[in-house]
Amino acid sequence: MKTELRTDITVGDICKGFHYNTLEGKGVRGWNGKLIIQPEYQRNYIYANGKDDVAVVDSLLKKYPIGLLYFLKVGDEYEVLDGQQRITSFGRFVSGQLDVLDANGMPRKFDPALHGWLLKRPLTIYICEGEGDDPEREIKEWFKTINIAGKQLTEQEFLNATYSGPFVTSAKAVFSNSSNANMQKWKRFVSGDERRQAVLTTALDWVSKGHVEDYLKDHRYDTGITELTAYFDSVIAWIDGTFKDVKDEMCGLEWGRLYELYHAKGYDIDKMWERIEALFADADNGIVKNKRNIFEYVLGGETKHELLKVRLFDPKIAKRVYARQTEEAKAKGVSNCPDCVLAHSTNAKRIYAFNEMEADHVTAWTKGGDTSEANCQMLCRHHNRVKGNS
Ligand SMILES: [Zn+2]
Repeated sequence: MKTELRTDITVGDICKGFHYNTLEGKGVRGWNGKLIIQPEYQRNYIYANGKDDVAVVDSLLKKYPIGLLYFLKVGDEYEVLDGQQRITSFGRFVSGQLDVLDANGMPRKFDPALHGWLLKRPLTIYICEGEGDDPEREIKEWFKTINIAGKQLTEQEFLNATYSGPFVTSAKAVFSNSSNANMQKWKRFVSGDERRQAVLTTALDWVSKGHVEDYLKDHRYDTGITELTAYFDSVIAWIDGTFKDVKDEMCGLEWGRLYELYHAKGYDIDKMWERIEALFADADNGIVKNKRNIFEYVLGGETKHELLKVRLFDPKIAKRVYARQTEEAKAKGVSNCPDCVLAHSTNAKRIYAFNEMEADHVTAWTKGGDTSEANCQMLCRHHNRVKGNS
């Protein structure tokens, strides 16, 4: 990789021919047309909030440094790799599209008489150019360095940069686009900020079965994204058709995995929703500890009890039951594990210590038994394990 540190390029140079797209809220070109301010893979301009953007200009006006900018040289053009937010902010100011507050707190536009000196202010720019056998890897490594130095890119922003091309561009237009009419519907089930590529990551994760990077590598130069959108739509449609209603806990579940496991099965959706409501009531009563796993538990036919992290017996209850059971067993001359007695094993008369026993639901929790003292018995560890998770 060739690198060059430039300190001769000024704010005025970069603002020459600055072009800001108000509709999409992004800086497009600068530096007399040769600088691409927002390459397609970059995050959207998120400084346009009258605070962060104003702060950038304010720093410049106070002659504070605004930090290192990184450009990537591609042929005769340059792409901003890091600094897009800052460049767009001062570009908007200099071109009269952003007001800053003056000393009296009054909004003020760029005024050549007052602010002309700003145009002569040099910036600190690091220009890099990929070379060698694997420029892609080089740029990727370099991005990691930038990440350490400055603000964090999300994993997906990083991958978008590494595998930029027609596929990422098209995919972003659908999945990273806040004005997409489907976005609100999707976000009932997909968590994260679409502007930071969270929805795109999920869509890629689902279609690639978790192999996002390989998928991007394979499809980098595809001009269509049909498989990606079709798969994503199938998963969303399956969730919509399988669950009668929507709960907050459904947002961000591993729906891609659940879809693969269960979409071919048929469900009585009324009955299933009834069970979900019942288990949510158990969760409100503190019995089911993992609410979010209720959906997977029900989809799987209520067999994987470990998913719910069902509350165990209070140790005080277990100790009381142990004392009572042991006293009765000693009086009868039998083991204090009722199942050892029934098994007529060599342990039929063994009195176990408290720490050799475990509390068990007499009527299994899965069959409606509650976690109360009346439904608690102590079993030796062996018999509790034999009885299984109940
Ligand atoms: Zn036993």
